[in-house]
Amino acid sequence: MLIVMKPGATRTQVTAVLQRVEELGCKGHSMPGRNRTAIGVTGNQGPLPTERFGSLDGIARLIPVSPPYKLVSREMQSENTIVRIGDLEVGGGQFHVIAGPCSVESREQILSVARSVAAAGATMLRGGAFKPRTSPYVFQGLKEEGLKLLAEARDETGLYIVTEVKDTDTLPMVADYADVLQVGARNMQNYSLLEAIGKTDRAVLLKRGMSATIKEVLMAAEYIFSAGNQRVMLCERGIRTFETMTRNTLDLGAVAVMRDLSHLPVIVDPSHGIGIRKHVPKLSRAAAALGCDGLIIEVHPKPDEALSDGDQSLTPELFEQTMHDLRKILPVVGSTLATRAD
Ligand code: PEP
Ligand code: MN
Repeated sequence: MLIVMKPGATRTQVTAVLQRVEELGCKGHSMPGRNRTAIGVTGNQGPLPTERFGSLDGIARLIPVSPPYKLVSREMQSENTIVRIGDLEVGGGQFHVIAGPCSVESREQILSVARSVAAAGATMLRGGAFKPRTSPYVFQGLKEEGLKLLAEARDETGLYIVTEVKDTDTLPMVADYADVLQVGARNMQNYSLLEAIGKTDRAVLLKRGMSATIKEVLMAAEYIFSAGNQRVMLCERGIRTFETMTRNTLDLGAVAVMRDLSHLPVIVDPSHGIGIRKHVPKLSRAAAALGCDGLIIEVHPKPDEALSDGDQSLTPELFEQTMHDLRKILPVVGSTLATRAD
């Protein structure tokens, strides 16, 4: 259920409502909106006894919320959530491009790619330091050394850092360095990780599992949100289908549906979405034209020498061209490319 407070409701009134929610054995989630506060209620088995709220002041309306992904649903909050990362706002109409290598490989590599993607207009730098690889025999990431290199690249370029967190053991370390915690496709249903991330104050990029339905993605976001962290961005990165000519099938339809069903920002990953370098710029343009909140794109100074995902990584030149094209497309859908404050 959603409890919408009157525009002028006082803090004491909100607290009284939250207390009543707890007395009923449920959990209240305060969701501050532009003009009024709303309180999302979770944990109730069956309908709440609405008469128990009759004597409380400051309540405008009580609205039942039907989807099981309650807190992240549009029924709970009709306005888009804006995820703030430093001085950046994701979800508020500006389009963000996160770019960088699949893995952080060396100081030279990450600084070089950070400089080029910053110059081309990215606002955030991606790079895996802990890599969940399909084979245990291939490069697993530079781990803490990689996180330190990302921090160095942030200090030099001003780009915020997006990096994957693989497990709860390393979460405190990764959260120390990262501005955005990436949850990988292979971890989308790792519920203890989602709950632990929900207890941090870091923004989150939640990637869709390779065979996860839209509902499952939203339920995964609900885990993070209900544990207390409302700074969640969803990411469509392609799903596994019968197709073998592409690495994954980028499901742009899901982007439209997720933005409709949820108030959370949606970011598209065209790199893992197709896995073929020359097609990544086209999918980037298509995603921007569809109307998402941003892209996450793999870029490597020398893709042929990359330790992971070289086949789908753009060269800095191709990335610059893609950014140029995005600048032309975005105004058509009422958006603009976000810039970093210098
Ligand atoms: C990645 O971003 O490099 C990655 C491993 O992505 P995914 O979890 O979507 O496979
Ligand atoms: Mn990758």
